[in-house]
Amino acid sequence: MATIFTKIINGEIPSYKVAEDDKHYAFLDINPVAPGHTLVVPKKEVDYIFKLEDQELADLNVFAKRVAKAMEKAMPCKRIGVTVIGLEVPHAHIHLIPINKESDMYFNKGKLTLDPKDMADMAQAIAKEFK
Ligand code: AMP
Repeated sequence: MATIFTKIINGEIPSYKVAEDDKHYAFLDINPVAPGHTLVVPKKEVDYIFKLEDQELADLNVFAKRVAKAMEKAMPCKRIGVTVIGLEVPHAHIHLIPINKESDMYFNKGKLTLDPKDMADMAQAIAKEFK
């Protein structure tokens, strides 16, 4: 059965899309730990990031870098934090999180539910900067 991220990539489930190429898709996390929290996903359905082939993993990271560069321009922050968890959704993905301090990366402090209009505006702002 297709993962929820494959359904998002195929447009069967809506997402706040940030960027896409032929092999990757990036969209806002629906329950972000910080505003602008973005997920970067390979279109190939692999349940664990380290099951990707070397080149696929390299390509995913290079795509994530392009997304992070766009986020740096669109979101006021000191850094884009990077993490991989993968315990909730069995489809490889990288979390990119705009941060000003270490605690902005804490997943155990409770996630946010932001206004849909703010989510759409953030996704659009990042998408505009994506090169
Ligand atoms: P994990 O697999 O532990 O890295 O966590 C999966 C992440 O996906 C969580 O941060 C969720 O908030 C996020 N997530 C789950 N479903 C959706 C969705 N439909 N749209 C956007 N983000 C999602």
